[in-house]
Amino acid sequence: MFDVVIIGAGIVGLAIARSIGETTNKSVLVIEKEESFGRGISSRSSEVIHSGIYYKPGSLKAKYCTLGRDMVYDFCEKNDIWYNRCGKLVVGRHHQSEELNTLYKNGQENDVPEIQIIDKKEINNLEPNIKADIALYIGCTGIISTHDLMAAFYKISQENDHDYLFKSQIIDVRQVDSGYELNIENARGEVEKALAQWVINAAGLESDLVAHMIDEDSPSLRYSKGCYYKLSSKWRGAFKHLIYPLPDEKHGSLGIHLSFDETQMMRLGPSADWTDGKEENYDVEEYLLDQFYSEGCQYIRGLEKEDLSPDYAGIRPKIWMDENPMPDFYISHEQEKGFPGWINLIGIESPGLTSAIAIGEDIASWIR
Ligand SMILES: Cc1cc2nc3c(=O)[nH]c(=O)nc-3n(C[C@H](O)[C@H](O)[C@H](O)COP(=O)(O)OP(=O)(O)OC[C@H]3O[C@@H](n4cnc5c(N)ncnc54)[C@H](O)[C@@H]3O)c2cc1C
Repeated sequence: MFDVVIIGAGIVGLAIARSIGETTNKSVLVIEKEESFGRGISSRSSEVIHSGIYYKPGSLKAKYCTLGRDMVYDFCEKNDIWYNRCGKLVVGRHHQSEELNTLYKNGQENDVPEIQIIDKKEINNLEPNIKADIALYIGCTGIISTHDLMAAFYKISQENDHDYLFKSQIIDVRQVDSGYELNIENARGEVEKALAQWVINAAGLESDLVAHMIDEDSPSLRYSKGCYYKLSSKWRGAFKHLIYPLPDEKHGSLGIHLSFDETQMMRLGPSADWTDGKEENYDVEEYLLDQFYSEGCQYIRGLEKEDLSPDYAGIRPKIWMDENPMPDFYISHEQEKGFPGWINLIGIESPGLTSAIAIGEDIASWIR
């Protein structure tokens, strides 16, 4: 019998394991269907530490993003993990100034520091290769190495004697007197059982399927695929800030933005397209080239089509409710629904990476 079983070793499951390990003596088993940690959504993101400007004040996204942002920087600093608090520009044309102001006010409501509206001259000073009339500057946005962050959480979790079962998938769950009995299919196709007082469902793209194993009325997910195209090496180091257009609310995305990693290679993305059913296909479609080129040209001076080539793709787990493409996270201890000890984390899309430490600390406090 384990005190806690965590389903899923992505950034969220690992951050929860880390917090439980650091603040309790509970026995923990982490069950992961892939052969190692961080092979799901967490290895296919923009790796941006978001500021919190976008999210509706009072939402879980706003709460965890603004709390989590500073926690991530602090954790990276203390654990020697690479990050770059490079700042970002949300750029627009004159006719978009009202929308940029609305975003600015939303950021103020969420207490986001270091934000200001800047004009064309200031944009040119910061980023000579960017075409824009007006921009929202955000100083506290940055980038990190997600893999190194996950590896640090995993190490802390292991130092606290947590058990890990890789290549093992939850296939069924039953509520019992002492908590929950989980059926786990291992790599050899055998079914093993584990008992737990607490179960934390952090199964990313499959979090709704796992939740439905105990309660069919839990939220369902729809997948939105996001592809990236990289810019050729002649653009390496060409920008110092992340560059975003205004969010694409219709498709539930932040828009095709320009970001970079530790090596200063530039990339554009992600696009946003609903998948047919729940297909996990990570091909980067060539037909998207025209879209990437035309959206990149909106704000990058001198971009040529030949500069772009397919990079990678990720899939957003979106809670599908009321046809709203910008839903909030669903994070809930399902006690009132008759499932004490069962915690669901469903629809942890962006800013899930930024939010992970703050979510982990909250869940650990519920368990304490
Ligand atoms: C294109 C894209 C760009 C993004 N950009 C950013 C960004 O810049 N900044 C930001 O803050 N956030 C970003 N995000 C969001 C962020 O990446 C996610 O919120 C976060 O990675 C989710 O982590 P997770 O642990 O919930 O999911 P995952 O990393 O998917 O982990 C879940 C794990 O559960 C395992 N699993 C699933 N089902 C089972 C089962 N039945 N049994 C056992 N194991 C199971 C999976 O294999 C997986 O390893 C982005 C997301 C996408 C898709």
